[in-house]
Amino acid sequence: MAFYKAEYIWIDGQQPTAKLRSKGKIVPVGEEPPIWAFDGSSTNQATGENSDCVLKPVFVCPDPIRGGDNKLVMCEVLLIDMTPHPSNTRAACAEVAEKYADFDTWFGIEQEYTYFDGAKPLGWPINGFPAPQGGYYCGVGVDEVFGRDVVEAHMDACLVAGLSISGINAEVMPAQWEFQIGPVGTPTVADHLWLARWLLYRIGEDHGVSATLDPKPVRGDWNGAGAHTNFSTRQMRESYEPCIAAAEALATTHELHIKNYGDRIEERLTGLHETCSYREYRYGVRDRGASVRIPWQVVRDQKGYIEDRRPNANCDPYTVTRLILETVCGAAS
Ligand code: ADP
Ligand code: MN
Ligand code: MN
Ligand code: MN
Repeated sequence: MAFYKAEYIWIDGQQPTAKLRSKGKIVPVGEEPPIWAFDGSSTNQATGENSDCVLKPVFVCPDPIRGGDNKLVMCEVLLIDMTPHPSNTRAACAEVAEKYADFDTWFGIEQEYTYFDGAKPLGWPINGFPAPQGGYYCGVGVDEVFGRDVVEAHMDACLVAGLSISGINAEVMPAQWEFQIGPVGTPTVADHLWLARWLLYRIGEDHGVSATLDPKPVRGDWNGAGAHTNFSTRQMRESYEPCIAAAEALATTHELHIKNYGDRIEERLTGLHETCSYREYRYGVRDRGASVRIPWQVVRDQKGYIEDRRPNANCDPYTVTRLILETVCGAAS
């Protein structure tokens, strides 16, 4: 009998920011990855006396690390009665996406992250700091960018896995990078983003570098890391007024979104470094100092999408996309 390896990946119960976990299962060729289980007492998801949690596959793709017939299996965590575990944010996201399916909402998420080599960002001097920010964004050359071989390996892996990755770039702070997932509907965009994050860490293992989604990895005059979330409903893709209406709707729930857009968001949304302070909500055309940006070509074309610049790099995209649907589609219903 022939077998393949299925790496089951799930989101744990760590607070305030959940972590990814995974373990491997041998599955007979020709069979789908079945429902499985794990010890929730080791992941902040259960107590020792009642430790079993259930893994329900929600997205299966080729495994670019092991190759061959092997698979990566993104899972949802359930209780043993098959209802969503309290740590499971996907279930609520999928429910809201279903409710507003008529809006045909697309999301494109820009995931920023930072490579570390031990205690310092990759390529940074052992003592002191690199030259101030200014020349690193989309830079080229050994003195400008750090970790490009890892970035390329990650992008290739995402493509082999069939994730909807749409690009990469070096960021404003040296050793900081970005990849983009989408545009695609939710919860798919979030399934793909969580898997792409897992690949980011896993490929880092092979290169001896760690990736972090810390929203403010270096204090001081260094950019934080975000997860700008671009989105459009069908109406927004057809005309301009719904784009403005969406930006206006987000003003009404600003605090709720800020509370759920990633831990330590106030350290990143300071009003400096291309952010708007978390204390206020503002939208603007071309404005990278606004909470929500309307890209220039959207004004030119009088239709398109808008960019919510508030989410942190360490946000949960199931929660971010659910809140945007509730606020924007809720207001338009
Ligand atoms: P920037 O760095 O200038 O803010 P990026 O090019 O990194 O922009 O990201 C823009 C994102 O917008 C892309 O990830 C893309 O998926 C997304 N996008 C483009 N068109 C749409 C659309 N109609 N609806 C939702 N997202 C979109
Ligand atoms: Mn970008
Ligand atoms: Mn960016
Ligand atoms: Mn952006």
